[in-house]
Amino acid sequence: MEISSRAAQLTPSLTLSIDSKAKAMKAEGLDVCGFGAGEPDFDTPEHIKTAAIEALQAGFTKYTPSSGIPELRQAVAEKLAADNQLSYRPGQVVVSNGAKHACYNAILATCQPGDEVVIPSPYWVSYPDMVRLAGAEPVIVPTMERNGWKMSAKDFENAMTPRTKMLILNSPCNPTGAVYTREEMEAIVEVAAEEDIYILSDEIYEKLIYDDAKHVSIASLSKEAYDLTITVNGFSKSYAMTGWRLGYLAAPEAVAKAVDSIQSHSTSHPASFVQMAGLAALKGDQQPLSDMREEFDMRRNYMFDRISKITNVTAVKPLGAFYVLVNISQLGLTSQNFADRLLSKANVAVIPGAAFGDDRTVRLSYATSIDVIKKGLDRFQDFCRTL
Ligand code: PMP
Repeated sequence: MEISSRAAQLTPSLTLSIDSKAKAMKAEGLDVCGFGAGEPDFDTPEHIKTAAIEALQAGFTKYTPSSGIPELRQAVAEKLAADNQLSYRPGQVVVSNGAKHACYNAILATCQPGDEVVIPSPYWVSYPDMVRLAGAEPVIVPTMERNGWKMSAKDFENAMTPRTKMLILNSPCNPTGAVYTREEMEAIVEVAAEEDIYILSDEIYEKLIYDDAKHVSIASLSKEAYDLTITVNGFSKSYAMTGWRLGYLAAPEAVAKAVDSIQSHSTSHPASFVQMAGLAALKGDQQPLSDMREEFDMRRNYMFDRISKITNVTAVKPLGAFYVLVNISQLGLTSQNFADRLLSKANVAVIPGAAFGDDRTVRLSYATSIDVIKKGLDRFQDFCRTL
């Protein structure tokens, strides 16, 4: 059967081959250290699970409004006001099946054939393909390690054409760990505002932020920024809820309505009882979240210190998320080649930067135990020494 050109144009997953090889090696009984994880290695806090169980037991098992239950949209609006200085009405909030779904809905609701979408690289793996699925064209803006892997307003301006419709900004960033400052964001907004370019602000790692870095929501910067920005966030990273599939966006009313229409004709709302879990996450005890952040911070310091001592690779200390992006360009290997060899020779799995549009790098996740991190970095260091 023929598949559509829409599906045929998608990039095959570069991470999958490493992942399946690592799994096969583990199944053979080999001791593989995995740095590939894109999710917290912590369990969902107990009170959140209980809320879902109680909702199920109370028979909260039916359809809900497609954009989510009013209580959850209200709680999201309150969270955005309290944490992010953002003033959205519940009607401007759409709850979706993960931040990934929220990003995809936002792009579908705003971009079409003929449009270009600016994406700084290294980027989160799904953005370019989401843009292609909407029939629009991704325009990749490479960033440099010496600039902290951040795109300047000038870089953005240089990438703009009359067809530019949207910029996707992800701060804190997966895979670089970069966090944009208020001033950097203001300069970017100024450029966007001149040409009325939308900004999709993916803030999923907002709570995983370290040292003196501060998370700034773009939409809070000015009225112009608010009118152009779609704010995306979710529960996966902050509350260790990746498998629950719950996220949301908040946007100017016309965009939120369009997203609701798309969602009502495609997936409808996220599972009813999962929404109750989301409500408990936002309203309940936030301590588990800070405990998790502290543990990540300790591992981040350890991993970064070890990597900085390896002479033929470099890294920028990440200020957010749970990854260290390692620049391997001195080694003369493609990222895929490096990752393949590291796995087969040293039993260490990393994600090749090619998956993020940057072949100079590999990504190491510290969402794994400190013991695995220690052992895996011993092997990583020995492997780099042999190159
Ligand atoms: N945005 C970024 C930058 C991510 O890293 C991820 C998860 N890997 C997502 C969005 C999607 O998160 P969710 O599980 O909420 O769909």
